Amino acid sequence: MVNIGQLLTVRSGEAQSGPRRGPGQKNLGIIEDGAVLCLGGKIVSVGSTREALRDPWLKKNRKKIKEIDCSGKVALPGFVDSHTHLVFVGPRLVDFEKRIEGASYGEIAAAGGGIRSSLEGVREATRTALTAKVLSVLWEMAAYGTTTVEAKSGYGLTVGSELKSLEAIREAASVWPGTVVSTLLGAHVVPREFQGCSLKYVEIVCKEMVPRAARRKLAQFVDVFCDKGAFTAQEAEQIFEAAIANGLKVRAHMGQLSETSLSPFLRFHPASFDHMDYVSEADVEQLAERDTVATLVPGANYFLGLERYPNARHLIDSNVPVALATDYNPGTSPTISMPMAMSLACTHMKMSPAEAIAAATINGAWALGVAAQKGSIEAGKDADLAVFDVEDYREIPYWFAANHCAFAVLNGEVSTRN
Ligand SMILES: [Zn+2]
Repeated sequence: MVNIGQLLTVRSGEAQSGPRRGPGQKNLGIIEDGAVLCLGGKIVSVGSTREALRDPWLKKNRKKIKEIDCSGKVALPGFVDSHTHLVFVGPRLVDFEKRIEGASYGEIAAAGGGIRSSLEGVREATRTALTAKVLSVLWEMAAYGTTTVEAKSGYGLTVGSELKSLEAIREAASVWPGTVVSTLLGAHVVPREFQGCSLKYVEIVCKEMVPRAARRKLAQFVDVFCDKGAFTAQEAEQIFEAAIANGLKVRAHMGQLSETSLSPFLRFHPASFDHMDYVSEADVEQLAERDTVATLVPGANYFLGLERYPNARHLIDSNVPVALATDYNPGTSPTISMPMAMSLACTHMKMSPAEAIAAATINGAWALGVAAQKGSIEAGKDADLAVFDVEDYREIPYWFAANHCAFAVLNGEVSTRN
């Protein structure tokens, strides 16, 4: 790729390792008139077009490689969408209307809507049907510049249907050229048949779902929705213990509806705490000292029509590494667009466009434990790039709800918008 108007490498300016935080989160390492050479799915060199064309190896082999002219365009690391609920069947249109009429999250759940209403579809669907759904969404995501996706189960909530969801993710991922990191979210909500005896359900998660998903290498992470109406902090700890004992890593939905103290969970070294609408000052201080990422999902706040958004400004100014994700799901955030999440971050959470880009790339990679291969354009990393048909990177969040992604490169494979 040559003549790139603005090449956002998002490489670290300093020697500091770890996710981008504080003032470092705005450093995008921009090269004007840039060039990137990729071979065998990896990035081989990054620099200016002039330097690249002087390279003796390139001079000799120029005819053998595919050259893409990116004049007047912006290239950046492919987005890492580090929080999605990818496996579900249909939209939740009744909930959508009820909410417009004024029903709250709790009221919708009590009336049989919410997460529980998506269970039937997934329980009844064949694995092949789920795989086809997941794959079509992965391609849609790539059309918006996303090259790495975290995909959770969590709409089956039986051993069989959770494993089936993870199998669908694995099958779809084996065909899609991008990268998928899968997460078992058996502890999404307590299913109706266990209402009033949630401990019994937690036991199934710990003793059956987690070990079986781990044994068959169907998940890298275990997630828990820890909040009122979902799982208690104590139950979440129990599930995390099972995850670690089975060699899986952990991440958690925290502070979406109410504040939960994060300190009891730090011993599990979570890669990420997600949502974080409610977080205490003591916890902010603790996170500033660690590599656990705060993953914010403003699409959910937007879609629920909330006035309140997570306090990204305070988190970044306090040195907490912040990532952005879509939270793609049928109930509260039916969007696959990382540029939309970035736009909301700028307009509703006062993040600068530069901070939003680091949050959607390198910090997303940290939130998934793949920062050694993903999230920045540097020699040795995977060839994951997004190219936008805009002259200035700030246009990506600026033209909200439009898709200016020209093409993405996924592990070296170029995918154009269909
Ligand atoms: Zn979620």
